[in-house]
Amino acid sequence: MRIENEYLSQLMERVVRRNPAEPEFHQAVREVLASLSPVVDRHPEYIEEGVMDCLVEPERIIKFRVPWEDDQGKVHVNRGFRVQFNSAIGPYKGGLRFHPSVNEGIIKFLGFEQTFKNSLTGLPIGGGKGGADFDPKGRSDAEVMRFCQSFMTELSKHIGPDTDVPAGDIGVGSREIGYLFGQYKRLSNEFTGALTGKGLAYGGSLARTEATGYGLCYFADNMLRSAGRSFEGATVVVSGSGNVAIYACEKATDFGAKVVAMSDSGGYVYDPDGIDLALVKELKEVRRARISAYVDSRPRAEYHAGCAGIWQIPCHIALPCATQNELDEGAARALVANGCYAVVEGANMPCTPQATEVLQGAGVLYAPSKAANAGGVAVSALEMSQNSMRFYWDFAEVDEHLRTIMRDLYNNVAAAAERYGRPGDLAAGANIAGFLKVADAMLAYGLV
Ligand code: NDP
Repeated sequence: MRIENEYLSQLMERVVRRNPAEPEFHQAVREVLASLSPVVDRHPEYIEEGVMDCLVEPERIIKFRVPWEDDQGKVHVNRGFRVQFNSAIGPYKGGLRFHPSVNEGIIKFLGFEQTFKNSLTGLPIGGGKGGADFDPKGRSDAEVMRFCQSFMTELSKHIGPDTDVPAGDIGVGSREIGYLFGQYKRLSNEFTGALTGKGLAYGGSLARTEATGYGLCYFADNMLRSAGRSFEGATVVVSGSGNVAIYACEKATDFGAKVVAMSDSGGYVYDPDGIDLALVKELKEVRRARISAYVDSRPRAEYHAGCAGIWQIPCHIALPCATQNELDEGAARALVANGCYAVVEGANMPCTPQATEVLQGAGVLYAPSKAANAGGVAVSALEMSQNSMRFYWDFAEVDEHLRTIMRDLYNNVAAAAERYGRPGDLAAGANIAGFLKVADAMLAYGLV
């Protein structure tokens, strides 16, 4: 991906030099800087006033030890992170990821992306991200609780409802948020909305669980309609079977599509009759089982070990909702060859740069994650509003806000792409529109 502006190209070289061995962070920064050349050409003040240099440097990185004891009394030590990337337009906001692959570079890439995504929602939230290289899979509830309490004992010193408000991400669902919030409340001696994605019994918002997946389909619906297409009658492949995937599948089905495949990190299921989502919810949300168990109850469905093959299944719309770089160039070529006309990113950065190039080159409608999956953080911000008001909206009201936010977001991104000479390029539009608001706030503050 070429960065045309000379200054931004040198800045990219400095980012690589100063952040060695962080390929995901480099990938995310390069993708954004490549889109911003026309913006800085028109507005050199963003370079002259140091905004571009500040933008690629997190405001603060917190890295800490997380010791905890398993059920056998053995001590484990994990590493925790919180990257407070940019607070120009509001308190840091972004999820916590518990997964063995977590490292500083991955959290930086996610925090950087989050800054633009949060800006695109139109709500007053800055960008942050955190997590730990802890794997909750196979751990008892008591072990997960002890880990979460130890993690929060340190994290609580750095967060708060007006400072930094974490939420869930991979490996951090309602169980983990419960343990984390309980410990935060105990340590701070305050009942404040310092986390989102909370349970409904203790300050959560209706529709937060559904928000990322539903929001993804609302965004996709706007994009498809503007191209004279829709979900109605379309065949859809969804990767993952976690929070985002499940509710993307639910809304796509509501919109008249047939979802024929879902996956987890072990493999994927193909169900020619359409995915039985109640069964997937039972397996994943209740039994914490593997997706391979799906075929025990659905004899016409097939299970295939390994994730990559899911993109070989013919579909009209692909919704990658598992993890970063899960859809590579070969997968993109297979999608194009099979007649796929839209790829909408539910996970953060699921397409490799080469895959994006193939898709855009073939005229596939492509919705980048920082725009398409912003519904989750948008409803998190609505959860913060409700916590501050000490008053809760019903499901329909939150869902209506979400629909409006995703419609406006789509229009804003499409308009920015048009304004800067890249009509139809939603990736460029998202980077530009997300950047402008943050950059203007940074300009107003001077050097801080
Ligand atoms: P979950 O933990 O609920 O689900 C993740 C799903 O992806 C699981 O099916 C998991 O399989 C699979 N997966 C995870 N890692 C890998 C991997 N390395 N290879 C293949 N499959 C993998 O997470 P979420 O649904 O919350 O998050 C999914 C994506 O969406 C992430 O990129 C996240 O950053 C992004 N996102 C999430 C938001 C939210 O509100 N939750 C908001 C915006 C973005 P297994 O169970 O086997 O690990």
